[in-house]
Amino acid sequence: MPKMISIICRYGTVCPFGFFISAQKVTEKITFAPEKNEIMSVENVLRARSNNQCELCKSTSNLTVYDVPPHPEQKEEDSILICEKCDLQLNKKEELDSKHWSCLNESMWSEVVPVQVVTWRMLNRLRDESWAADAIDQMFFDESTLVWAKATGDHENSSAVELHRDCNGNILHDGDNVVLTKTLDVKGSNLNAKLGTVVKGIKLVVDNVEQIEGKIEGQTIVILTKYLRKG
Ligand SMILES: [Zn+2]
Repeated sequence: MPKMISIICRYGTVCPFGFFISAQKVTEKITFAPEKNEIMSVENVLRARSNNQCELCKSTSNLTVYDVPPHPEQKEEDSILICEKCDLQLNKKEELDSKHWSCLNESMWSEVVPVQVVTWRMLNRLRDESWAADAIDQMFFDESTLVWAKATGDHENSSAVELHRDCNGNILHDGDNVVLTKTLDVKGSNLNAKLGTVVKGIKLVVDNVEQIEGKIEGQTIVILTKYLRKG
């Protein structure tokens, strides 16, 4: 873009004030801006579509993009905008609060297909409640949408959410500090994992609520939740 540079600095490469370099930077920014917009656009499209509200419960706080499984890529036709509370319960990090989910009685009429799909899955997790069972009966999908809705198997799972809990039944989260309640025998290692050892910043093992990962003496090991308590 020589024309633009000449506008910003008529000295060009010999500009004594260094403006040529900054002009290049400006040019770069302009060149890359459309790409950045593309990355942003899914969230922006969802924000516009939802009027900056959670597409399930209409909350306006802590909104994030949820890619409706099993579609891993952020695309507006496969994603919805949800709030933190919906996110935690949708992703089984918190127990279901059926009162909160009365919002599904409204979201079930959304014209947005991924919203319908998530609504149907959540209604199925709550199907022991008569209002949820009634709502399911009123929802109709075309064949391909029904296949998508059933893809995660949520409609067959029970509503109970299994959470990682310590030996006292307290719910554990990623990043928690815990204390060993038993001296652990770590196979093939002389690791000092004695009773009372503090393990900082644990990571929950996905798909196994009885296990967490933690670092002891710099080594990451898997620890059973029944042998630890929240520190
Ligand atoms: Zn929400």
